[in-house]
Amino acid sequence: MSGCIFCKIISGEIPSKKVYEDDQCYAFYDLDPQAPTHFLVIPKTHIESALAIDEENSAVVGHCYAVIAKIAREKGLESYRVVTNCGLQAGQSVFHLHFHVLAGRDMTWPPG
Ligand code: 5GP
Ligand code: ZN
Repeated sequence: MSGCIFCKIISGEIPSKKVYEDDQCYAFYDLDPQAPTHFLVIPKTHIESALAIDEENSAVVGHCYAVIAKIAREKGLESYRVVTNCGLQAGQSVFHLHFHVLAGRDMTWPPG
């Protein structure tokens, strides 16, 4: 989708530090890390937010979680948190569905 920074990262128009890529998803390190390990996993199809997930496009969500677990095993991450902010009030700033993967420090609950 034109104008979407994550679509531009997928196409290579905006550079990023790649963690993993396959035909369905792309993973890269967050520009502003909130933990010692902080990367994002995004579907290659433009889905605006978690609110736009439906029966037609949801298969890629499961795939993203499988990829997250694969990366975690490869990196030896025994504990991590997956976060999806949905909508402005929840803190979503980029409107292309993404899964934050945070690891390497103690996490608090409830999240802020
Ligand atoms: P959100 O606020 O929507 O939950 O998460 C968006 C995330 O994307 C933020 O953590 C922000 O640091 C990250 N981000 C925004 N622009 C870029 C960019 O151009 N490159 C990378 N690597 N991360 C970005
Ligand atoms: Zn996009």
